[in-house]
Amino acid sequence: MIRYTRRNFIKRTIAAAGTLGFAVGCRRLQVTDRNDLSPGAIDGLRAKLKGRLIVLTDPLYESARRVFYWNAATERRPRVIVQCAHEEDALRAVEFARRHELEVAARAGGHSHLGWGCSNGLVVDLSGMKQIAIDPLRRTARAEGGVLSGEVARAAGRHGLAPVLGQCPGVGASGVILGGGLGWLSGLHGASSDNLLSARVVAADGRVLTADNERNPDLFWALRGAGANFGVTTSFECRLHPIGPVTGGDIHYSVRDARVVLRFFRELMDEAPDAFQATLNLTPGERGVFVSLCHAGSENEAERTLRSLRAIAPPTKEFVKRQEFAALAERPAATNPANTPPPQFRGIQTVYRDRLSDELIDVIVDRFGHASPEAIMGISHYMHGQVCRVAPTATAFPLRQAGGLNVRLAYTWNDPATGQRLTQWADESLRLLRPRGDERIYANFQTYETRSGAAAVYGANFSRLAGIKYKYDRENFFRRNSNIPPTGNARAGSHALDRS
Ligand SMILES: Cc1cc2nc3c(=O)[nH]c(=O)nc-3n(C[C@H](O)[C@H](O)[C@H](O)COP(=O)(O)OP(=O)(O)OC[C@H]3O[C@@H](n4cnc5c(N)ncnc54)[C@H](O)[C@@H]3O)c2cc1C
Repeated sequence: MIRYTRRNFIKRTIAAAGTLGFAVGCRRLQVTDRNDLSPGAIDGLRAKLKGRLIVLTDPLYESARRVFYWNAATERRPRVIVQCAHEEDALRAVEFARRHELEVAARAGGHSHLGWGCSNGLVVDLSGMKQIAIDPLRRTARAEGGVLSGEVARAAGRHGLAPVLGQCPGVGASGVILGGGLGWLSGLHGASSDNLLSARVVAADGRVLTADNERNPDLFWALRGAGANFGVTTSFECRLHPIGPVTGGDIHYSVRDARVVLRFFRELMDEAPDAFQATLNLTPGERGVFVSLCHAGSENEAERTLRSLRAIAPPTKEFVKRQEFAALAERPAATNPANTPPPQFRGIQTVYRDRLSDELIDVIVDRFGHASPEAIMGISHYMHGQVCRVAPTATAFPLRQAGGLNVRLAYTWNDPATGQRLTQWADESLRLLRPRGDERIYANFQTYETRSGAAAVYGANFSRLAGIKYKYDRENFFRRNSNIPPTGNARAGSHALDRS
């Protein structure tokens, strides 16, 4: 039974409106929790924890609330941050948030584009939960919820194995898996979520559930692409793959060659072997136009692909070498170079497109012409290979069309005037880059909402997900995510995607 208190009504109305908390061109939506938390209640929670509890007066509060994409739109002021040391801490935190009606945010790596790892209520911060166990015989990794992608890659690499995770070592492994997960090895081994074997989840009602093919299979299906909606994943097990050295690095070109590089990139990726993946980056700064690549096939095959890349336009610089996969997986993402001091603020916009058309290339080149040195544009996760061979309804992650890609615009700033200028540029670029119909969104890259809400994210899986959400979280307690409004009605959510 749902209690229709005034607060519940407001929360559910906001949930139905999408719960993005931030959308370009929209006013910010947020739930404000007004209930008083007595010192006794806080002390009571603290006494039950193995980890640390942080409130506003704590000297660590500012750093503890901050997430990667930190700006005026994503900033939140949590009442309580629970830095979990154990699964039980997550359970206690969820119970507390329920009792005090606090908006809850689960956090692993804190890399959500919309700052969903923070909230104005209670943060279940898993980042201190770092246990990893590799089973080299079964080729699996079991990891706690706070383990980062780069940490799994490093641990697996010691056994000649690799996980399928994202291309940024700082992204939470559980965060990337729960949203689908696309990385260097997705052409060979599918999405990160295709490699999930089981998970332990603290659900909204305080139960700790195991989800796998036998136990709670509906939840297991839903976790693989829409996972943040269903509870706090405190640990998981995923498949690993044997891997030898790979060819990886960057090839740079002059910014004058941006259009020709984009066109060739499309041809290259349409024909790419499963073992190859690349991202294309455009920045007016010193790095220029560059392709970051990983070829996990033989050295000869990799050399053939490199020859094609070098033939597109004269390379201005090249840093490509044969290396251990873990070394490549630990390289900072192109949007997050290690050689510059961390900026005060970061922003990002991403658009999913089903094809890199000539028209889209024209828009990208035009917006690149208006970009400033603090910005980096690019194309990530050009879809091909094994990830596209899995049926879109096999798991909750539906975006499996070959030739699909994500266009991204990332930017950083320290002073507000620069921030305003960059945000205007990004907003205008987003308007021009978005498709006119059939708009889809990749959950892990969501930066705005369409009129069709979660249906744009989950496509044909939306209706089934709404029912599973109703079963496990009918009050939409977990809503700091690509949110699925719970629907008890079997027909609900079956509406078609907005095609206007
Ligand atoms: C620099 C950079 C590079 C990226 N590269 C890639 C890439 O190559 N491939 C790709 O697919 N994505 C990539 N992403 C996107 C990334 O996968 C998503 O932003 C992901 O959600 C981040 O997970 P996190 O744990 O770091 O973030 P958080 O902000 O901690 O969490 C993100 C969302 O997942 C939820 N969540 C996280 N962990 C849990 C958990 N254990 N239980 C329940 N809910 C949880 C949070 O509540 C939130 O809704 C990248 C992002 C950045 C910033």
